[in-house]
Amino acid sequence: MDKQDFNEGLLGFLDASPTPYHATQNMAGMFLNAGFIELDERDEWKLKYGKSYFVRRNNSSIIALTYPKDAKNYLMVGAHTDSPNLKLKPNPVIKEHGVVKFGVESYGGLLLNPWFDRDLSLAGSVSFTDGQNRLQNALIDVQKPIAIIPSLAIHLDDKANKDRSVNKQTDICPVVTCSDDFELDNFLKEQLQLLGYDDVQEILAHDLSLYDTQKASFVGFQDEFIASSRLDNLLSCYVGMLSLCSIDPNKAMLFVANDHEEVGSDSTSGAGGSFLEATLKRMSRSDEHFTQMMRSSLMISADNAHAIHPNYPNKHDTNHAPIINKGVAVKINANQRYASNITTVSKFLLGAKKAQEDVQKFVTRSDMGCGSTIGPITATKLGVETIDVGLPTWGMHSIREVCGSDDAYGLYKIFTGLEVDG
Ligand code: ZN
Repeated sequence: MDKQDFNEGLLGFLDASPTPYHATQNMAGMFLNAGFIELDERDEWKLKYGKSYFVRRNNSSIIALTYPKDAKNYLMVGAHTDSPNLKLKPNPVIKEHGVVKFGVESYGGLLLNPWFDRDLSLAGSVSFTDGQNRLQNALIDVQKPIAIIPSLAIHLDDKANKDRSVNKQTDICPVVTCSDDFELDNFLKEQLQLLGYDDVQEILAHDLSLYDTQKASFVGFQDEFIASSRLDNLLSCYVGMLSLCSIDPNKAMLFVANDHEEVGSDSTSGAGGSFLEATLKRMSRSDEHFTQMMRSSLMISADNAHAIHPNYPNKHDTNHAPIINKGVAVKINANQRYASNITTVSKFLLGAKKAQEDVQKFVTRSDMGCGSTIGPITATKLGVETIDVGLPTWGMHSIREVCGSDDAYGLYKIFTGLEVDG
């Protein structure tokens, strides 16, 4: 696969994945196409050597793996399916001032200002009963713009460009219609009908997020950049997924994409939960084998890294400031906010050298706080040697983030060529 095809596929994946549910569904589709077999956690597993498998949890997290005979160690790649967004509250409809608005809750560390004046749509998961009173679940994606959060005009706030703050409860409610008889359940039933569910009785629960309808795009005089929602962290999901689909199935590789990283990873489908450990134990012949495998494997936690911002350069440490399109960043933190250590960094650097790809080193300024990833959580739970890496990105947690159009393909080349044994 060449870089152009790789990036075109990336744009399609980003557009088709407005929520973790959709991202997981799309990855499952890719794995099925590549010949992987789906497992159900509730069944007894009878894994066969030489086959490749995947398993989902909560329909928002996914693990996929090859299963070669006598695998001593695994190359594991981890990412997350969720991104900061505005989620509908359970009873979201507010009718006032001549319009209908939605009450929303912010999910994750959202950069709020970019959400104003965007053409927003709605997607997520809906649970309902059908004509036979059976519980059903479906993913919806409205696709067309149905909501907008209008800015307050500068004439009504002359300090707007100096110190306007955004109140999460009152200032970011999207407007959806002027029609006073709007009912959310009826709207959701119409959406389900479009999917072929003709006998929906009752909407029971929903997990719905707003998203920007502007498509992912190349930007720059020479298409140097890719701009999109949810680059953090669907970019790494895409690289990990494609790498696993591309490698020889005789090579032991595992890919995990967890939900709920943006809110701390503590959930059944988050990296703090039991999903990965339970899967690895079921792949192992014994506790002895499991421990040996964990201590011989390498986990690469891939999550976007802050590229040096050309208008705010002093937000970075000069010697550790990743530049867009200059290669993946290895993330290092003395206080273990990242899981990288000298052994895992060295292995990764050797892999990059083999793939003839540049690597940059990222360390947060010592006078600033440092984010974290699923890396330290996974390393702590499993005892697997781990490295944190990330593709340089501007505007992280904005509704539109920017990365380089060279870097993701470079990481793909590293993943597909890397040997755990160095
Ligand atoms: Zn992230």
